Amino acid sequence: MIGDGGDLTRLRCIASNVGAEMLAANAEQIDAKGIWPAENMQALAEAGLLGLHVPTRLGGHGQGMLALAVICEELARHCGSTAMCFGMHCVATQVLVAKATQEHEARYLRPIARGEHVTALALSEPGTGANFYLPRAHFRPADGGFLLSGRKSFVTSGGHADSYVVSVAAPGGENDPGTFTFLMVDGGTDGLRWGDPWRGFGMRGNSSRSLEMSDVRVPAGNLLGGTGDQIWYVFEVVAPYFLIAMSGVYLGLAAAALDLAIEHLKTREQAHTGERLRELPVLWPEVAQSWTELEATRQLVQHAARLGDAGHPEAPLALFAAKARVAGTCTQVTDTAMALMGGRGYGEHSAVGRMLRDARAAHVMSPTTHMVETWLGRSLLGLPPL
Ligand SMILES: Cc1cc2nc3c(=O)[nH]c(=O)nc-3n(C[C@H](O)[C@H](O)[C@H](O)COP(=O)(O)OP(=O)(O)OC[C@H]3O[C@@H](n4cnc5c(N)ncnc54)[C@H](O)[C@@H]3O)c2cc1C
Repeated sequence: MIGDGGDLTRLRCIASNVGAEMLAANAEQIDAKGIWPAENMQALAEAGLLGLHVPTRLGGHGQGMLALAVICEELARHCGSTAMCFGMHCVATQVLVAKATQEHEARYLRPIARGEHVTALALSEPGTGANFYLPRAHFRPADGGFLLSGRKSFVTSGGHADSYVVSVAAPGGENDPGTFTFLMVDGGTDGLRWGDPWRGFGMRGNSSRSLEMSDVRVPAGNLLGGTGDQIWYVFEVVAPYFLIAMSGVYLGLAAAALDLAIEHLKTREQAHTGERLRELPVLWPEVAQSWTELEATRQLVQHAARLGDAGHPEAPLALFAAKARVAGTCTQVTDTAMALMGGRGYGEHSAVGRMLRDARAAHVMSPTTHMVETWLGRSLLGLPPL
């Protein structure tokens, strides 16, 4: 039970239907060929899900973190890459929502709610890597707007989204989180140079490409908030939503892998005994432990999301813990599921193999497990997270 009064239950049902009807059918091809899931994103748009976080007065659903966790989990059961592209779109949308001007509402949020606009996040950089809150890319005012230069890495939906929330710092202020600034960069802007197609170990449909900008011109109206006042975005908006989006995605992968393994154990009959694998007592604890781990992690993730939605002071602790826990759970449960499925699971294009490869991104995607456990440990010891 989600306990949200109905709206979220309805949205979850929609996500589940789109997942089963569209995402599941495309998942193998998306993974095998490394294709960005355009058709799936269109289906999510038509189902009205792109506006999950857009306020209702602008035509969206006005939902928060709990909805993000639940919908991402539902989608990832069918396709991890699509769920991740959707999740990153949602985090970027929430960054916009947090400080949208009327112009941003008209140019971005209303089209997002209508399913006409996909957005994405460009924070990570090759130089600062996991320290995603320290952009080296910079901006300088010019002709009433801004010129952006620098490099971004692993931009999910890179080259496909209609816009990107891009983090930059003031020139010379690269080591000063106080100069952190967000600008919207439209996909068709002159001077965006995308790197090679993404070829990941998993999450192969993500199009998580690098981006190079050299004096890319952006209008003044594309500034989110003011220049240099936005490090709060990282810890109040980006990190919490990022943590929850990914927690949902990795939960969904683990849940789907366990379902596959259970189905295999129920149906696989051994020739020498005539019995199904589920009759083997040695396998029962493995299934039980995976299910328990998954359910306990889901409760932690949804608890963290509820605290986040309520603005509870302990939300950051629960959010850090949830992302760290889900990364461990997802890698462990998908690994166990593959073992339970034997050689069939190990085949080149097996679904559980795809889930296991997708799952391996959980520890390394920001905030990485090292990072969130560092923040959690420091916070518990009365130190500032950074
Ligand atoms: C599939 C995928 C999709 C992604 N999508 C996006 C996206 O849409 N937008 C975006 O902005 N980024 C995205 N990223 C980037 C991601 O979020 C990470 O920022 C990035 O993978 C980490 O940077 P790096 O590879 O340079 O790691 P490195 O910085 O080289 O880190 C290597 C290891 O060192 C550890 N480490 C580094 N610094 C610290 C520290 N200070 N404290 C503790 N441990 C540390 C890390 O935890 C990691 O284990 C994506 C990455 C992947 C793999």
